[in-house]
Amino acid sequence: MREIKTGEITRTVKELYLEASYVLNDDLLISLEEALSNEESVTGRDILGRLLENAKTARAESVPVCQDTGVAIVFLELGQDLHITGGDLQKAIDEGIRQGCREGFLRASIVADPLRRENTGDNTPPLVHTEIVPGDRLKITVAAKGAGSENMSTIRMMIPGTEPEEITEFVVEWVEGAGANSCPPVIVGVGLGGNFEEAPLRAKKSLLLPIGSRNPDPFYAEMEVAIIDRLNQTGIGPGGLGGRATCLDCHILTSPCHIASLPVAINLDCPVTRHKTAVL
Ligand code: SF4
Repeated sequence: MREIKTGEITRTVKELYLEASYVLNDDLLISLEEALSNEESVTGRDILGRLLENAKTARAESVPVCQDTGVAIVFLELGQDLHITGGDLQKAIDEGIRQGCREGFLRASIVADPLRRENTGDNTPPLVHTEIVPGDRLKITVAAKGAGSENMSTIRMMIPGTEPEEITEFVVEWVEGAGANSCPPVIVGVGLGGNFEEAPLRAKKSLLLPIGSRNPDPFYAEMEVAIIDRLNQTGIGPGGLGGRATCLDCHILTSPCHIASLPVAINLDCPVTRHKTAVL
């Protein structure tokens, strides 16, 4: 059985966390450039230009791309034939985030208790989602998720048989209601089906998909396009100050669900959607 040591996992998590914090992915930058070339509003063009300039500066100077360094979310795809040695996996991941936060001077954004609000000082603990997969590899994705867009997320338990148009309407109305609070232009993640914990996780995972990619099922691809088009006609625009670029993309991920259920979760992300992946 193949083995990897926890020390390698710690190093990788730290590197991914720092890279995600400093360097936006090319697909996001391309979508911002496209939004800029299609934007009719002068203010909207100005904001999109500043977002691109900000991304360039963050990369060149190795500084966080936003003051909100987000909550660290670690997605693992753990091969069932892989043996992790040298200690506790969760502690190894925590240590990677801790080192990344301290060495990269990332803003300490996590409190240990939701009501007592004492800052942990090093952005630990990260949220870790693990999937067991075939093989002997470990795929690690580290995302840093901003609170502004996260706070504008929701779930609704809809009635089975709800028409696709009603779901589209719900998503569009929700994002429109979020207005400037979600730091538009947004990326809209939709989780359909599953249950009360699965649908938001599907919505969250959909935010990792390449911008511009469509659901392989034409039925859902059509819904994604309808949501993007509707949102870009709302006039909310970049920063919520008016314009065309309200939504950079929308992804729908589905899960099987109970005959009596139809959960619909919406998870929003912002123009600094950050995630990096490595395979060990
Ligand atoms: S939602 Fe995104 S752009 Fe807005 S403050 Fe948070 S990380 Fe920054």
